[in-house]
Amino acid sequence: MTNPPPELAPTAGLPPEPSAAPPPDSSPAARPATRATRAGLASDRAYAAVVPPIYLSSTYAFDGLDGRGPYDYSRTGNPTRRLLADALADLEGGAGAEITASGLGAATAAVHALTAAGDLVVAPHDCYGGTWRLFDALARQGRLRVQWADLTQPDAAGLIAAQAPRLVWIETPSNPLLRITDIANLSTATHEAGGLVVVDNTFLSPVFQTPLALGADVVVHSTTKYINGHSDVVGGAVIAKDPGTAENLRWWCNTLGLPGGAFDSYLALRGLRTLHRRMAAHGANAAQVAEVLGAHPAVKALHYPGRPDHPGHALAARQQHGFGGIVSFDVGSEAAARRLLDGLRFFSLAESLGGVESLICHPGLMTHAAMPPAVQQAAGITPGLLRLSVGIEDISDLVADLSAGLERAAG
Ligand SMILES: *Cc1c(COP(=O)(O)O)cnc(C)c1O
Repeated sequence: MTNPPPELAPTAGLPPEPSAAPPPDSSPAARPATRATRAGLASDRAYAAVVPPIYLSSTYAFDGLDGRGPYDYSRTGNPTRRLLADALADLEGGAGAEITASGLGAATAAVHALTAAGDLVVAPHDCYGGTWRLFDALARQGRLRVQWADLTQPDAAGLIAAQAPRLVWIETPSNPLLRITDIANLSTATHEAGGLVVVDNTFLSPVFQTPLALGADVVVHSTTKYINGHSDVVGGAVIAKDPGTAENLRWWCNTLGLPGGAFDSYLALRGLRTLHRRMAAHGANAAQVAEVLGAHPAVKALHYPGRPDHPGHALAARQQHGFGGIVSFDVGSEAAARRLLDGLRFFSLAESLGGVESLICHPGLMTHAAMPPAVQQAAGITPGLLRLSVGIEDISDLVADLSAGLERAAG
């Protein structure tokens, strides 16, 4: 049950968008890191440029009234954007992908393409705040029904069987506590109940997690984070396992006006070339940072799935290819958090994540500030909680900086 019903697939009238270039280096024998680095290279037929050019034109000339070319208008299709889409579809193991102007654009495309009016969506109670607001707003308008649930709990499959939702939305690891959801188990339960599964794979990227291979139907990304990786693009991607769903997503992206721009697509494609190397560096640095945090008495709680005492460790070790670059920890009070923050040199105090530079944020006062205190408390977002997006700087500088901060926190 991976194809949308016919009434959800109004793709008629949208001509196929050509692959801008089937790059010669994407043969199945090449490893993912090689395919990411070489995506779209040497595809320029005009001047044999090694790096593909950026097609900024909004419109494309017809060769006479009957001579529509492969592209006619850049909302509907753009060669630069197509290179990025094809590269991400390839890395996630999907049949096709669309690039959107933001991660929330990708979520918007997915939810419109995969649900009809009044359908039930089961979504994590602690999903990304913008996703929460999108689903809540659509539910208030009567477009959807939403059942919020803790999908990390053992009874999640039972809930799905009982409710038979049209769509199950998974975000794993969760933000900011890095709780892990079992993608394979919930995909089986959802398909048995006649629904579809979307996984937000932003926190791990296809380097560390490939949800389609675990049974999911669609993957969404905020390419703003690891895919672009340099904190200079806001963008998104939505990738479908089967061609029919991919066509349906393309129709909805065009119809809702969601596609991302050519220049941003170029930058994200450039970022993608180093994705595997960056993820390895993020993962290695985060593991060392977690070790330092775990050994310090100022740290009252540590949330990092790479630690054997993390409740999702065994599952993460099974379904992920790495533990990622995000680490959260609690220093006991807002006052201690403020002392730690005041004087940091190599962790910028900022929201977002996934760039080469290290960031630190206070979820309670920053990313999750819109949640009332009681809701924060229920979600485990305490006044002493801090979230790190560990960058790729020299680890000894990061460790020295954090260690000094922990001494300040300890007072
Ligand atoms: C940032 C983020 C989003 C939203 O992406 P934008 O590019 O900001 O629209 C969605 N999901 C997760 C997990 C994110 O971190």
